[in-house]
Amino acid sequence: MNPENLKWMINAIPDAAILVNQEQQIVAANLKAADLFDRTTESLEDAPLDILIPESSVKSHHDHVRRYFSQPQQRPMGTGLRFHGQREDSSTFPVDIMLSQFRVESLDYTLAVIRDDSERAEVQAMQEKLQSANARLARAQEVGGLAWWETNLETGQLIWSTTVPQLLGLQPDEKPSFPAAQSMCVPEDRLQFDAFHGHWGAISARTVCYRIRKKEGEIRWIEETVHQEADHIVIGVMRDITDQKNLEEKLRTESVTDELTGLFNRKQFNQDLNSRYSSFIRSGIISSIVMYDFDHFKNINDVYGHAMGDEVLKQAASLVVDQLRPSDNAYRLGGEEFAILLNGTDTDDAKTFAERIRKSVEAARFKIDDVRTCATISLGIAKFRSDDRCFEDALKRADGALYRSKANARNNVSTCD
Ligand code: GH3
Ligand code: MG
Ligand code: MG
Repeated sequence: MNPENLKWMINAIPDAAILVNQEQQIVAANLKAADLFDRTTESLEDAPLDILIPESSVKSHHDHVRRYFSQPQQRPMGTGLRFHGQREDSSTFPVDIMLSQFRVESLDYTLAVIRDDSERAEVQAMQEKLQSANARLARAQEVGGLAWWETNLETGQLIWSTTVPQLLGLQPDEKPSFPAAQSMCVPEDRLQFDAFHGHWGAISARTVCYRIRKKEGEIRWIEETVHQEADHIVIGVMRDITDQKNLEEKLRTESVTDELTGLFNRKQFNQDLNSRYSSFIRSGIISSIVMYDFDHFKNINDVYGHAMGDEVLKQAASLVVDQLRPSDNAYRLGGEEFAILLNGTDTDDAKTFAERIRKSVEAARFKIDDVRTCATISLGIAKFRSDDRCFEDALKRADGALYRSKANARNNVSTCD
């Protein structure tokens, strides 16, 4: 075979092909190669191979050629030799090259079959972008405690995101499912869980919040929002909102708690008194109010200082709390004035309770470091009456009873029936 025959051969190749000699000079190029590099076959023949290679790649290409000739091998296309080609106008494009070596009349030639690799490079770049976007999305879901599912109402197919098991705290061998989530839902929230997940066609609420108990016993709040994507596609997004719920609860508790004593404040007192009054009107359940105020408290501050005054209020509050039943609550209404709501209790029992409180405060020794003092309180009791128009009516009577105790030498209990 002579070089002329080689030219004939490369014209028969269906892809762009060039024939290169050992001096890295192009001996022949077919029409496809000329088209690919935007040149003519004549301008390619006898030209140095470097004109087809971008300047930035020339050195690495030479290194590759050296390595290739030291250990020549055939390589099918699409398996990894990636270079850039250069057109006459210096624009570049990715190429995939297959090399084969020939020896003709004791001269070595290399046949390079070249394909424009732009499409594959674009697809690869898109795949890489997609992969990194997916990784970012998965991480964002993980960080944000997010998971999702999608169901096809026609086929019944259900897809769960990879973050669902972590969100629900499932074991590695457990598959996510609505029954699995339902069984973890705390009994108090199960009705709304069932109502929400029961009939997608008729869901009125789009968001539901419920608590789940994880395997280790930890309670987590889940917020689930569903959206109907098409007639038969429903997607649900699940979010762990435990931190948000805890914060809300903390802020709510702080807003109704007295900082010094830890008792509820007047805001909570008004709410509770109102709801007890409603129960009384609705079901006749009697509740009693015990109001109390420290006697000559100004003296304690004057003699022992304001810090001791605070200590008395704090320590007396905890004395009272220790004697409450679970259904009763104590409140600091302001300054050194307090109240206790006794649920389902008539004034006789309230009086017994009030006497016990009065005596325990009287007997107590309040102290800071080595300094001790004592204090007394005056108390007033009232209960709801059927002619009350609002809860404030009973409150006024309790207040009146308290001031009768003050007038009656203090440190005693008065009742207003
Ligand atoms: P009375 O027996 O008539 O109730 O006399 P009193 O001195 O207790 O009543 P008065 O209303 O004259 O004074 C209440 C005092 O309670 C004045 C106020 O400085 C003090 N006081 C109110 N809130 C606090 C508090 O949070 N800490 C302390 N240390 N003192 C308080
Ligand atoms: Mg007082
Ligand atoms: Mg007072």
